[in-house]
Amino acid sequence: MSSQAVATSNKEDLNLLNIVSTQFDKAAATMDLDSGLLAQIKTCNNVYSFHFPVKTPDGLKMYQGWRAEHSHHRLPLKGGIRYAPDVDVHEVEALAALMTYKCALVNVPFGGSKGAIRVDPWRTSVEVLERITRRYTFELAHKHFIGPGINVPAPDMGTGEREMAWIADTFEALRQGELDSMACVTGKPVSHGGISGRSEATGRGVYYGIREMLNDELACKRAGLDMGVKGKRIVVQGLGNVGYHAASILVKEGGAIIVGVGEYNGAVWCEDGIDIEGLHAHRKKTGYIQDFGGYRQLDDSLDCLEIECDVLIPAALDMVITKENAPRLQCRILAEAANGPTTPEADAILEARGDIFVLPDILCNAGGVVVSYLEWVQNLQRFHWTYSEIITRLESRLEEAFERVMNYAHYRKTPHRLAALALGIKEVAEVKMTRGLFP
Ligand code: NAD
Repeated sequence: MSSQAVATSNKEDLNLLNIVSTQFDKAAATMDLDSGLLAQIKTCNNVYSFHFPVKTPDGLKMYQGWRAEHSHHRLPLKGGIRYAPDVDVHEVEALAALMTYKCALVNVPFGGSKGAIRVDPWRTSVEVLERITRRYTFELAHKHFIGPGINVPAPDMGTGEREMAWIADTFEALRQGELDSMACVTGKPVSHGGISGRSEATGRGVYYGIREMLNDELACKRAGLDMGVKGKRIVVQGLGNVGYHAASILVKEGGAIIVGVGEYNGAVWCEDGIDIEGLHAHRKKTGYIQDFGGYRQLDDSLDCLEIECDVLIPAALDMVITKENAPRLQCRILAEAANGPTTPEADAILEARGDIFVLPDILCNAGGVVVSYLEWVQNLQRFHWTYSEIITRLESRLEEAFERVMNYAHYRKTPHRLAALALGIKEVAEVKMTRGLFP
């Protein structure tokens, strides 16, 4: 074999669509389902891919956007919108597929979808971002890729309440007088049809997942951990919406200690604990986490993944845990707040090690879609749940899903990721078999 061929064969496949496809195949292999039905579930139904012009201070610029609709087994479809400079169609399709299995796993009656625009939100002015968002919404509306009964976006990496408010406002302008138009998107500000607790919901769900795992006697015994969240040492990569809220709730409600935080421009580390609220406020003001609190510093965000801790929370990018760094992880629980943070080869290494419990993404970060569902219902029904009613519903929905995954994994002797995926796939299969096939 030539040296180039060896180098190529040693390289890990870092295409998220291939990774999700491999995960699907592994989960499907543990199930007794017709291969045609499985192919139907796995395949992405359609993708709208488009370019659009936007006026910027530097002249007219072309932007590229996507909305992938993975499964129409339930309507509307649901999934976030990602703004990132390097996002591509494979990533969008992969994330849409994960949404299908996630919604099915936590029993939220939506099909899976995802959207993205190739833009760097951190280096683009607010005015241009607003124009991009409104034009993107118009394109989706024009092609029937958005609507309260069709497809309902939400925030994802690089987007938040602000973008969701612009989307709602644009859609309402196009559908004047339609009472339910506010339900075209979730994750809106409370002042504009949003729901209390949505911005923290994904991070709160991450907390519930970790808490449930640490309340499980068998899991703690096998991980060599004392039971309970109190005093557990946590490292979080990504201090954005999900990472910040997860860390904050773990400290405030669980009594955990944050010992490491990674951001795109570096990481900080302190065994005695990091003041997460102070660090977050400092980052909001300055854009940096390094020059706060006198904590030890690491130059590369990836280094924070290898800090010795009880719980590691990747809450930023996908594919950060690879075959290269998986042998060096020093956590006992890997709580996947980000979508697709672990490659299949890294999964195999963690499985062989047997000393790290994985809380898989579609379970760990499902809190957002549960509360998005409540927001959608609230907009359609024109009533309001209180904050505590929302949190109670979120908590019980996730506890129930956690228990099902743990039981499935235990009795089938299957890794948690495959258990979660298999339960999601099973639910989609049941809906598809009940509905039958047209024509
Ligand atoms: P966000 O944009 O609010 O935060 C992402 C954070 O990661 C930012 O602070 C960013 O600076 C940081 N980051 C970027 N590159 C990094 C790097 N190389 N190393 C370390 N940090 C880096 O996004 P979010 O909404 O918090 O989403 C984070 C992850 O959670 C994504 O994988 C997303 O798909 C997933 N997720 C989000 C939601 C939600 O409700 N927002 C729901 C489910 C899953």
